[in-house]
Amino acid sequence: MTLQQEAARMPAAPENNEERYLNAVVKSRLLSGFPSGPFVQKLEECFCRYTGAEYAVAVNSGSAAIQSALVAAGVQPGDLVAVTTHTFVGTVNAIVLAGAKPHFLDIDKRTLQPSVSSLERALERGAKYYVPVHLYGMPATMHPGFPRERVIEDAAQGLGCFDGARHVGTLGAAGAFSLSPSKVVSAGEGGMVITNDAEIARKVRLIRNHGLLAWNDHHVQGFNFRLSEFNAAYGVAQFEQLEYFLEQRRAIADAYRAFFAETDFSRPIPEATARCSWVKFPVMIPPGFRLPPDELARQLRDRGVPFEMSYCGVHSFALFQQTVDEMDRSCPVADQCLPRVINFHTGPRLQAEQAASLVNELSGLLAPASDRS
Ligand SMILES: *Cc1c(COP(=O)(O)O)cnc(C)c1O
Repeated sequence: MTLQQEAARMPAAPENNEERYLNAVVKSRLLSGFPSGPFVQKLEECFCRYTGAEYAVAVNSGSAAIQSALVAAGVQPGDLVAVTTHTFVGTVNAIVLAGAKPHFLDIDKRTLQPSVSSLERALERGAKYYVPVHLYGMPATMHPGFPRERVIEDAAQGLGCFDGARHVGTLGAAGAFSLSPSKVVSAGEGGMVITNDAEIARKVRLIRNHGLLAWNDHHVQGFNFRLSEFNAAYGVAQFEQLEYFLEQRRAIADAYRAFFAETDFSRPIPEATARCSWVKFPVMIPPGFRLPPDELARQLRDRGVPFEMSYCGVHSFALFQQTVDEMDRSCPVADQCLPRVINFHTGPRLQAEQAASLVNELSGLLAPASDRS
């Protein structure tokens, strides 16, 4: 099928209820439930139904979701938590704010996920918990050395991503999602913890509401992690369009995949059993490429191609150089590879129809020297 035929196959945008639900919140005058209002509960039901998790607890950001899930799953002050260096800094900040210490995992350059050897080194260092990050909406590498109850998933980018029949976020003790604007479904801001463990769900509910069991009854350290009804209402309306959003992103990723298969740019290839949500489409610039990464970035920008350079490894940030033991932040493969990784956008404001013209722009720029006239 050509890209044009592919684009014509795409369904029209579904009806959307963002305005209607926001107006309903204004009319109701219940702007934030205490601890949760009707739209917050609806959004939680959406996550349970879609992911198959038994419990879902809405909070006001993805990082709050990671932090509260870690604490609720039993992470203690000083525990060593293994986490890939190839992630958004928010993953690591949440680990630190939960009182734990990060151990940075180096990556495998074929998957851009933690290498098996780095996971093994983390176990040798005494890492107790593992935070797999389903980056770009691709299932993260797991390791049997970290049993299920010691795995807290950063599924911030993972809505719509399945590992076999299981939705990500249900592989470990708990999974954390983000509803910030660049994710598959946005609530403006927001987050969600999903779990099959009633006790974890109960604790996250406590943590999101100042640790209050009842008025003047306070046993655990909590915060205001409550989600407002406005954000939840917007999130519910977006959730109704989830399948359409995923189809759009997958169609754009398909166009990029077909194009890059003909180049020597490598891209992480998910397991055959994975169903990805393609929050970004990452590729690695080949070592001999005629342009240095920053020059290629400039030319892509000039051509209007939406992208950004990858996160550089979080282990290299000045803050973590000061606060993390040297033995817990050695990531030479990430240092070498990540400056060459480009993440092409797949949404949310991109339409699948635009993919063909983006690919045209790329073919002018990236074709091997021998094909260029
Ligand atoms: C977005 C994101 C977060 C943080 O989510 P917020 O809602 O911005 O707090 C954490 N980890 C990853 C991988 C993300 O993409």
